[in-house]
Amino acid sequence: MAVNHQVILAEKPRGKLALENFQFAEAEVPSPTDGEVLVKARYVSLDAANRAWMQGVTYRAALGAGEVMAGGSLAEVVESRADHLAPGDLVFAETGWQEFAAVPAKHLAKLPKLEPLTHLLSVYGVTGLTAYFGLLRVGGPKPGETVVVSAAAGAVGSIVGQIAKIKGATVIGIAGGAEKCAWLTDQLGFDGAVDYKLGDVRRALRAACPNGVDVYFDNVGGDIFEAALFNMNNHGRIVCCGAVSQYDDVPPAHGPRGVPGLIVTKRLKVDGFVVMDFYADKDAALAELKSWVEAGKIKVQEDVIDGLENLPAALIGLLAGENRGKRMVRV
Ligand code: NAP
Repeated sequence: MAVNHQVILAEKPRGKLALENFQFAEAEVPSPTDGEVLVKARYVSLDAANRAWMQGVTYRAALGAGEVMAGGSLAEVVESRADHLAPGDLVFAETGWQEFAAVPAKHLAKLPKLEPLTHLLSVYGVTGLTAYFGLLRVGGPKPGETVVVSAAAGAVGSIVGQIAKIKGATVIGIAGGAEKCAWLTDQLGFDGAVDYKLGDVRRALRAACPNGVDVYFDNVGGDIFEAALFNMNNHGRIVCCGAVSQYDDVPPAHGPRGVPGLIVTKRLKVDGFVVMDFYADKDAALAELKSWVEAGKIKVQEDVIDGLENLPAALIGLLAGENRGKRMVRV
């Protein structure tokens, strides 16, 4: 029997995610049925949202105990029962955390074999598209405006800030720790950075944004959302991309203060979005991202860890802020 190594969500975490919540398993490599392809995962994407899926229904069904851990991968077709894909083709597929998966081919598109391949998961994958559409379509920054982004040294945040610079905005990142903050300003060209671990983010943001905040790209929710809210300018836009501060623990009993009062008095627009909403325009977005990467206007930061067996620790580490840029695991 050909063996398929898997990572199972053994039980749903009750507090912070821990290694004990996972277990390893071996199964038979599945056979694709009509309309399916058998794929082998090459790089598994690590996403903050992986943890949110364990909490309940999101934009996808909740993940249950005993299931193969859910997740997307850059994967290679090894056997095809679909007309438009052949062995050797690369796709982005919902494989889950396992070596092999038989998946419906209907929504899979053949990806270009560019170098480095990992860019297909970072800047040319969900990460880059989330930053692109969220900032440009939802936030709509204008030249000279101030854009603030949280989880700024992470996968989505680091690209959001660089696109905002391309668009002529003043950009302030919020990140955990002096090293990440220095990286944002010294290497990525951010105009300033706030280390939220030093506390009083509201005051620190006020100092970093003397003209107030026009666009806040929210990746974290909670107290940092509140701090941004109090610094918003009239007619500012808040892009609700995610809430990583709320994913990995019992949610705090209180929500952010200032909601909805400040939203009214400042005439704010607070918009949530899911990247798939914009997929009709994906090709044009990817072409523009590519031109910026090739022109050196976007620096792509990736954090690649080896080995399927390291997936649980890699996700726990991402939630703890170990990563800089896009984290993924090479299988
Ligand atoms: P990421 O930013 O690469 O990693 C998560 C980062 O969050 C960590 O590196 C950590 O950095 C920070 N963080 C963790 N706990 C925090 C807390 N309590 N307060 C402040 N920061 C905290 O992860 P990602 O996958 O790119 O996801 C970023 C956000 O985008 C998530 O909210 C995710 O759900 C969202 N997302 C949304 C869509 C969409 O379609 N709407 C698509 C993709 C991703 P520090 O060291 O700075 O703490």
